[in-house]
Amino acid sequence: MKYIVCEKPGEFILKEKDEPKKVPGEAILKIKKVGICGTDLHAYAGNQAFFEYPRILGHELASEVLEIEENDKGIRPGDNVVVMPYVNCNSCIACRNGKTNCCTKMRVLGVHTDGGMQEKISVPISLLIRTPDLNDNAMAIVEPLAIGAHAIRRAQLQPGETIVVVGCGPIGIGIMKLAQIAGAKVIALDVNQGRLQYAKEKIGVDHIVLGGEGSVDKVRQITNNDLATAVFDASGHKGALEFGHNYMSHGGRYVLVGLSKGEIVFAHPAIHAKETTLMCSRNATLEDFEHVISVLKDGNFPIDSFITHTVDLDEMISNFDGWLDPANGVIKAMVNF
Ligand SMILES: [Zn+2]
Ligand SMILES: [Zn+2]
Repeated sequence: MKYIVCEKPGEFILKEKDEPKKVPGEAILKIKKVGICGTDLHAYAGNQAFFEYPRILGHELASEVLEIEENDKGIRPGDNVVVMPYVNCNSCIACRNGKTNCCTKMRVLGVHTDGGMQEKISVPISLLIRTPDLNDNAMAIVEPLAIGAHAIRRAQLQPGETIVVVGCGPIGIGIMKLAQIAGAKVIALDVNQGRLQYAKEKIGVDHIVLGGEGSVDKVRQITNNDLATAVFDASGHKGALEFGHNYMSHGGRYVLVGLSKGEIVFAHPAIHAKETTLMCSRNATLEDFEHVISVLKDGNFPIDSFITHTVDLDEMISNFDGWLDPANGVIKAMVNF
């Protein structure tokens, strides 16, 4: 069977290998689609921390069960399934408290272990969710949207709130739309006018604000001088992370979803005066996946606008470099298997 491996930074190779064999506790899946994520782009570019090569990437998977044993989830061969790519230990303090998304021994499929850029893969049955009501495109975007759903749940977002989401990449766009569906008003903020236009026209955010000078005043105008009761950073940029709390109202929450690699610095008086609740949001749990699956099933998410690029397996390698350039307007690229 065919698979694509990232041999080293900047190099993918399309190879052949034997098909996986069924082992107890695992299912053999046929991969139908793989979504490309920021993590994959960073791994390919060589700037993903603690990343080992060679590695088969891919953790946003639409798949069909080929072989599976009797299981308490009632999953059978032929079923469409979404894979939760987070392999947690179930025994550490975080897992015992239900926070499986930040397990101390977290291993992510396609990051710490080989992922789904292969025609067939064997994965633990415990990671599978049956999705009879979703098409292949919808299945492949459940994981990135679950990241956003988790951040929104962390923030305990309430209907009627006005929020700022910094960064109109796939994670930011997911937060924006899921927050609107939850009844919030959304101000999208980005330094790229093209991406803001996309957020307004294709996703239907309520307001757009170009980052940089005057942006705080713009958010003030939109919010009747209140500022936003929750601010989500989905940019992961140091400068943006350090500045984002300025969009936040007194008593608000500042939720860091995007990941930067170094230190970020806040002036303590500035965040203290607002009694800032600062929280990070990492990965997602089963509850978040189930929420996203129900949103997609209801047809409330603009799936076709979210997936901006689609290629076949054989074309992925030649197209990948282009996806690194934001000028190409990539939000979510999808590979057909
Ligand atoms: Zn991802
Ligand atoms: Zn754990």
